[in-house]
Amino acid sequence: MEELLEKLDTYRKEIIGTEISGADAAEAYRIRFLGTKGIVKNLFQEMKNVPAERKKEFGQILNEFKQLAESKYDEVKPNAQRPTPNANQMDWSLPGDPISIGTRHPISIVRNRIVQIFGRLGFSVAEGPEIEDDWHNFTALNLPEDHPARDMQDTFYIHKNPDWLLRTHTSSVQARVMEKQKPPIRIICPGRVYRNETISARAHCFFTQCEGLYVDENVSFADLKQTLYFFVQEMFGKSVKIRFRPSYFPFTEPSAEMDISCLICGGSGCNVCKHTGWVEILGSGMVHPKMLQNFGIDPNKYTGFAFGMGVERICQLKYRINDLRLYSQNDLRFLKQFVSAT
Ligand SMILES: [Zn+2]
Repeated sequence: MEELLEKLDTYRKEIIGTEISGADAAEAYRIRFLGTKGIVKNLFQEMKNVPAERKKEFGQILNEFKQLAESKYDEVKPNAQRPTPNANQMDWSLPGDPISIGTRHPISIVRNRIVQIFGRLGFSVAEGPEIEDDWHNFTALNLPEDHPARDMQDTFYIHKNPDWLLRTHTSSVQARVMEKQKPPIRIICPGRVYRNETISARAHCFFTQCEGLYVDENVSFADLKQTLYFFVQEMFGKSVKIRFRPSYFPFTEPSAEMDISCLICGGSGCNVCKHTGWVEILGSGMVHPKMLQNFGIDPNKYTGFAFGMGVERICQLKYRINDLRLYSQNDLRFLKQFVSAT
């Protein structure tokens, strides 16, 4: 027992007297005193040799010794005295957290391209409100009272008398421009429009249109054809052909649908073009004289043409996207495919 106490005293002196510096020395100290075969453990094992009447006394001494050994290690162990780094001690050369860069939405890519192509022909961008009144959306555009588009089933009305609705086409922007501006007018109006449709792969309650309007003296159907031909060649490539089919729109006369030769089969026939070799791309026509009159433009002096296309449709043909819902589902797997598209 006395021998044990002497040993303990020697160790106590060693602990107090030793200077420990550095992680290696601290680790060596830990192994020597606190390790699984260390001094503290060994001393506790000596307990069994201590006479019963002195066990309590020895136990207390041993516990105090253990605390001394541990507190010494707490002071010197690695990290114990390391100061919290401040701004000046930070390693600014370390790489930072990556910032993931988004991609343009395919609709934005195609819309920007349309704006760019027509911009080169002198068309400027015009914009208007998405909540429209009856006059700008229907009446001014020569849409008759009984036109189906005026039906509650096809259009989102948000107010009755006076009628306010979510615009069903961007032609309302043309109306607003003709109201304020005198010819020459040369504008394109890209924007979102709304129809009360059941959402499916081929129809959606909102989509993007881009309409164009050119009003000036001596504007002819030949100008219309040449302008749109230039557009599709710039959008889809020089080998694309166009054809016009007679059609009807209330605000143009004559009116025509324009097709382009199928981009997949080049005109020989495939599933995309339903084996006709042609795909429909936009509607167009010469501005109806009555519409010019509605805005105080003399139809004997001025003529014009107008056209309208669905941006999703152009996108579908350009990138082979066959489901309209993909555009608004915010699915990153879809959107990230356009990282290098221009
Ligand atoms: Zn085809």
